[in-house]
Amino acid sequence: MTDRYAVIGNPVEHSKSPDIHTAFALQTGQDMDYSKIFAPLDGFSRTVEIMRDNGFKGANVTVPFKLEAFHLVNQLTERAHDAGAVNTLVFNSDGVYGDNTDGVGLVRDIQQNLAISFQSKKVLLIGAGGAAEGVLHPILEQHPHLLVITNRTLDKALTMVKKVEEQGDFRFVSVNAYAFHDLPGNAFDIIINATSTGLTDANLPLPPDIFASGSLAYDMMYGRQTPFMTFARQHGARHVSDGLGMLVEQAAEAFFIWRRIHPETAPVIAQLRL
Ligand code: NDP
Repeated sequence: MTDRYAVIGNPVEHSKSPDIHTAFALQTGQDMDYSKIFAPLDGFSRTVEIMRDNGFKGANVTVPFKLEAFHLVNQLTERAHDAGAVNTLVFNSDGVYGDNTDGVGLVRDIQQNLAISFQSKKVLLIGAGGAAEGVLHPILEQHPHLLVITNRTLDKALTMVKKVEEQGDFRFVSVNAYAFHDLPGNAFDIIINATSTGLTDANLPLPPDIFASGSLAYDMMYGRQTPFMTFARQHGARHVSDGLGMLVEQAAEAFFIWRRIHPETAPVIAQLRL
């Protein structure tokens, strides 16, 4: 019998996850079907229940349900616990198991696909929402020299830094929170836009001198040229990337969790860029 999976979101129509997982299934010969499921804003847990009753094996979770998924699951992986959010569900006889593959997706895209190492680098993470929380630990695990978090609402960045300090696992990295107006005079090697400004074309109040020579500017948004990417090109970033590779890499990790097979991501990224 064909195993069924889906991405749950609201909205969900725009999601590329079915294309990605269908390509992975074809490539690896897996008998599975992957669809999109729109859940009402107050109906996430009911949607999961219906999927389980109908024999689905698992799901991806997208906006705005990643936090609700975190509270719904019976078992959490350590990285989902660290992220405080869940984007991958596995349904089994014991209940619902939750993981978060966003961080591993970002790190793989930057380190493997773009061949840029985090080690000993100065990293600026812009944003303190769910996506930023999800990538924080996976970035720190790569031993950057410095990680600065900046966010419109500074308190959220300060809370993220405090949590890292309290956990005490990353004493070898200097982790700080800066307001946007504290940034001038500081240049970074890897600058990651984890805000949702790419969706609205809003401009971030970034100083032009944050891009060190040879730097990477990475926007988690995909499928379009964002104002951040344009700004980075104009002000000296050597490499500029959108988040399509991250999307495919996080999907590949979810696929591995479900099917225990690592699909090849490069042909799928290339296919989506056509
Ligand atoms: P959240 O809603 O949780 O967080 C949004 C963040 O953007 C907050 O830090 C918020 O700041 C900031 N922000 C929003 N508008 C502005 C603005 N006008 N000026 C400055 N900052 C602003 O969203 P997520 O963290 O879940 O997602 C962020 C982005 O990452 C989205 O574009 C999403 O599509 C993308 N993403 C991509 C993935 C991929 O695989 N490529 C995976 C996951 C996410 P404040 O705290 O002040 O409100």
